[in-house]
Amino acid sequence: MRKNLLNLTVMAITGLSTFVFQSWAADKPVELGFTDTPMLPSGKWHVHDPNRPVPPVVTPGATFSAAARPPADAIVLFSGHDLSGWNCEKGPVKWKAQDGYMEVAPHSGDIETKQQFGDFQLHLEWAEPAQVQGSSQGRGNSGVFLQGLYEVQVLDSYKSPTYPDGQCGAIYGQSPPLVNACRKPGAWQTYDIIFEAPRFGPDHQLIRPASVTVIQNGVLLHHKQAILGPTGHKILASYKKDTPDRGPIRLQDHGNPVRYRNIWIRNIGEEEKP
Ligand code: MG
Repeated sequence: MRKNLLNLTVMAITGLSTFVFQSWAADKPVELGFTDTPMLPSGKWHVHDPNRPVPPVVTPGATFSAAARPPADAIVLFSGHDLSGWNCEKGPVKWKAQDGYMEVAPHSGDIETKQQFGDFQLHLEWAEPAQVQGSSQGRGNSGVFLQGLYEVQVLDSYKSPTYPDGQCGAIYGQSPPLVNACRKPGAWQTYDIIFEAPRFGPDHQLIRPASVTVIQNGVLLHHKQAILGPTGHKILASYKKDTPDRGPIRLQDHGNPVRYRNIWIRNIGEEEKP
C-alpha cells in the first residue's frame, strides 16, 4: 500500500508537467516526454514533446551490405579490435573490443576519437542489445556525437515508443527523423552521416549553423538539417561563444551495452586540408 501511495504521489507531481504512459504489462509508468521544456523555434512543439507526430515506420531494404570495406581515402576510426585511437572521459577506455566490434561498458564513460574533425562524411554500424531491456530512453540508448557536441540518437526504437525528438535517428532535442527505419534488436544497422560544421566570424559570431544529412540503413532521416546548437537534455540548444568548429566523434555510454563496428570518416569541404 505504501508503495502504491508513493507511486500515486509521484504521478500526481509529475502529471502536471509530464506526459505519462501507463504500461499495463510492466505495471509502472513510462515517461514519454516533457511539456515543461522550452519551445522549439517553430513555435509548435516543446523540446522532447510527447505530442509531436510520430515518424512513420519504413522497413529498410534487404540490400544493405554489412561490414562493407571503407573507401580507399577513409580514415578508419575502428576496424574491429583496436581502440588505441579513442579516449574515455573518465580515464582508460573500458569498452570491450572483440569479435570485430566494440561494446559499451555500461557506466564506464563516453569514448571519443583522439582526432578532431570539421566537415566530414562518417560511416558506422551499430547493433542494439539482442536481449531487450528497459523502455523509452532506457532501451538501448547510446548516441553519436558529431564534433563531440551534436547527438544523432542511437536507441532501440523498434516498436518502442518515446518522445519523437529522442527516438533513434533524431537530432536529439530538436528534430525527429523523417521516418523510423530501425531494424530489430540484435541486427546490425548503419548510419551514413554528412556533417558541415558551424561557421563563425572573427568575433566568433555565428555565420552559419552546423547542418547534417543522416541516412539509416539506406533510408534518409535528415537532409541538410540545420542544427540549433550543442545537444542537451530538456534545453533549447544554442551556440555559445566558446563553441568550437572542430571536434572528435564521441560515442555515448548511456548504460546500455550497444555495439559498434566498421567506423570510418572522410574529411570534406574546407576541412580537406591537413
Ligand atoms: Mg543517446
